[in-house]
Amino acid sequence: MAEKRDYYEVLGVGRNATDEEIKKAYRKKAIQYHPDKNPGDKEAEEKFKEAAEAYDVLSNKEKRAKYDQFGHAGLDGQAGPDFSGGFGNLNDILRDLFGGGFGGFGGFSGFGGDSQSQRQNAGQRVYKGRDIRVRVRLTLDEIARGTEKEIQIERNVPCPDCGGKGAKNTADIKVCPSCKGSGQVKRVVNSFFGQTVTYSTCQQCNGEGKIVTNPCHTCSGTGLVRRKETVRVRIPAGVEDGMQLTMRGQGHSAKNNGINGDLLIVINEIEDPEIKRDGNNLTYTKIISIPEAVMGATVEIPCLDGKYNVKVEPGTQSGTVIRLKGKGLPTVNGYGTGDMYVKFIVYVPKKISREEKEAMEKLAASENFKANTSKEDKNFFDRLRNMF
Ligand SMILES: [Zn+2]
Ligand SMILES: [Zn+2]
Repeated sequence: MAEKRDYYEVLGVGRNATDEEIKKAYRKKAIQYHPDKNPGDKEAEEKFKEAAEAYDVLSNKEKRAKYDQFGHAGLDGQAGPDFSGGFGNLNDILRDLFGGGFGGFGGFSGFGGDSQSQRQNAGQRVYKGRDIRVRVRLTLDEIARGTEKEIQIERNVPCPDCGGKGAKNTADIKVCPSCKGSGQVKRVVNSFFGQTVTYSTCQQCNGEGKIVTNPCHTCSGTGLVRRKETVRVRIPAGVEDGMQLTMRGQGHSAKNNGINGDLLIVINEIEDPEIKRDGNNLTYTKIISIPEAVMGATVEIPCLDGKYNVKVEPGTQSGTVIRLKGKGLPTVNGYGTGDMYVKFIVYVPKKISREEKEAMEKLAASENFKANTSKEDKNFFDRLRNMF
């Protein structure tokens, strides 16, 4: 699937849009792209669905809050109305939205007055600020608990002296004489194939339809100034290396008070020297001594929530793996926790004294110390063999 567009952008509303504004914006899009009005137009159908999905999220307080903090990732596939049953259930949404008068498909004739304002809106260009991408380095410990980080960024913000308009005085903002405010210039080219009319962005006003005759000194008419700022970012527990969190609207501001870009936070996991990660599970290798393996012992395992005493059963083979349930990492969406797998490796000394050698020789003569794997847990050794 193609990358999803920003829901605010889809509906053409600002981040601080009220419920009423969102509803209104969606209503317009729904009318514009309704399959009934655009029969057989796949693109319109996609746009229609896209708007419905955006509305579904932004009109729901809880979903909107999640989206604002984590972007599309925060919704984890639960976004959007269900289209599996065709457009049937969508009619309910529309009926809710437009009141009882809406009679399903074909009921749109009553909204004829809207197409006019739609066209007017299309002429006004809404700018979107660029996104800012920063990396955040996190230890496993921080990932396990979730954390808050202060991030220094430099971003464009609306100029405080002109309020982002580019001119202190509104009288200094004039309709562009080249395009008469439309932002586009028409070009007629006569060629062998006949006359072609093309529209291109107006050079004089860059498509804005307005020009500033006496630009603000602070921002040179751009409406934006650069600021060093500190942003506090809450990072949920369970994030993974390479994951990207989106802080909606925390990127660069856009001129003409357009839609802010996003702040994208890319997670970098600092590798732990001892505890390795495999998804939400952790693995740790514990070296135990021969007597511990033979007679059993209690050993300390450094879990992320502190040290944890673990029993080594008498007769533990080197390579045995035990599972510490729930000692892994939480999943980022908050459902469930991984486990920690501890592998015991038996330490064999390289150098031994004469007395130790004698003791070992005595043990070697004993039947119990023969490497007789057939009478032991055969499955265990088969598993070990299959690991190579
Ligand atoms: Zn122009
Ligand atoms: Zn300014």
